[in-house]
Amino acid sequence: MNPKRLSVLLLAGGTAAAGAIAFSLRAQDRRFYLTEPVAGVAHAQTPATPAVDGAKLKANEIGRIPIVMYHSIDEPGTKYDAHGLNIHGETFRKHLTMMAKAGWYPMNARDIYIPEKLQAVPAGMTPVGLTFDDARGSQFRYKKDGTIDPNCIVGILESFHKKYGEKWPRAGTFFALPKSSYNPTPFWQAGLEKKKCQWLVDNGYELSNHSFAHKFMTPMNAAQVREAVWGCVRDIRKLAPSATMDTFCVPYGAYPKDKSTWDVILKDPQGQYKNLVAFKAWGDESYAPGDKRFDPRIVDRIGVDNGYFEAVYARLTKSGKLYVSDGDPATMTVPRSWQDYVSAHRPGDLPVTFYGEAKPKTTAKAKPKAAGKKKAAAPVAKKPKQP
Ligand SMILES: [Zn+2]
Repeated sequence: MNPKRLSVLLLAGGTAAAGAIAFSLRAQDRRFYLTEPVAGVAHAQTPATPAVDGAKLKANEIGRIPIVMYHSIDEPGTKYDAHGLNIHGETFRKHLTMMAKAGWYPMNARDIYIPEKLQAVPAGMTPVGLTFDDARGSQFRYKKDGTIDPNCIVGILESFHKKYGEKWPRAGTFFALPKSSYNPTPFWQAGLEKKKCQWLVDNGYELSNHSFAHKFMTPMNAAQVREAVWGCVRDIRKLAPSATMDTFCVPYGAYPKDKSTWDVILKDPQGQYKNLVAFKAWGDESYAPGDKRFDPRIVDRIGVDNGYFEAVYARLTKSGKLYVSDGDPATMTVPRSWQDYVSAHRPGDLPVTFYGEAKPKTTAKAKPKAAGKKKAAAPVAKKPKQP
C-alpha cells in the first residue's frame, strides 16, 4: 500500500471514519486533500486543515462560464442594430462595470482551456471570456496623434485594467479575418494592421481565428473546412508571427452540416494548426472544461442583442451555477451536489475536492435557457446581414 494512503487510514483510525474523509490521492503528485474536519483527527498534528474553504467561497470549478461576444461599438457610419453587431459604447462600458461588480474576472478565451491559467483565477472570482469578432474598426483604432483611441474597445479595456488593476487583467480575444468583403484589412485602418496585431499579442490580448474569408461553413467538406481554418492562421501570422491562433470562432456560428468535419476545425490532418476549442455565436453561458458535458468543438457564447446580456447576467448571478474559483491552483473544488458532472477527462487531470451535501438525486438536464430570452431576433446564422 502506498505509504500516504496508509497514513490517511491510520489518521482516521482505520475505521469507518475513513469514509467521512474526502481525499484525492494521486501517485504522480503525491498529495492528498482533506476537505472536511474529521472527528478525532482534526486537531492531530497532521495537516488536517483544508487547503481551501470551498463552502465559504461557494467555490465551483465546474460551474458555468460566461463567454461574451461583441462586434462593434459606436461604429462610424454603421447603424445600431437589434442583433448587437453594433452597440453603444456606453452599453459596452455598462456591461464591463456589471462584470467587475459581480467579481467576474476577464480572460482571453483560450486561457479558459489552459488548466494552469484557469486555475490562476483569484479565489471567489468567476472567469468571463471577452470576445470580439471580425477585427472591426471600432475594436482597435489609433488616433492621428498615434495614441489608442480611448473610445474604441481596446481603449476601454485598457481603462478598466487601469481602474481595477489585478482584478481586471488585460484580456480579450480578437477573432480576426485576414480577408473578407466586410473587412478590407484587420481593424480597418489600412497600413496599421501589422502594428495593431502585434500590439495585441505583446500586451496580453489574444489574436485568434475567425476563418480566412468569413464564408458560411454549412456546406463545406473537410478540405474546405481545413482551408478556411488554415488560411487565417497562415495570413494572420504574417502580421503577428507569435499570435497563438489556437481558438476558432465559426463564422455566423454556422457549423458544417457534415459533423465529421468538426474535428478538422480542431486539428489539421496535415499538422499545420490545432485549436483548443471552437466557438458558436448567439448562445448562452458555456460549460466549464471540467464539466463532462463540455464539448470543445462547440462552445457557447452570449450575444449582446438588445437587453440579452443583461437578462443572462441577472439570471446567472442569482443561479448559483457560475464557476467560482477556489484560488488554489493544485485542486479543483466542487460542491458535492455537482459531483455527477465532473469529467473523468478534466483538463490537467487535477484532483477534485468536494464539499457540502450531495443532491438526493441528480439527473442530467439540458442546459437552462436564459430567462426572458426573446426569440424576436432571428438567429444571425440563418439571415446574416453582416459577419
Ligand atoms: Zn464574424
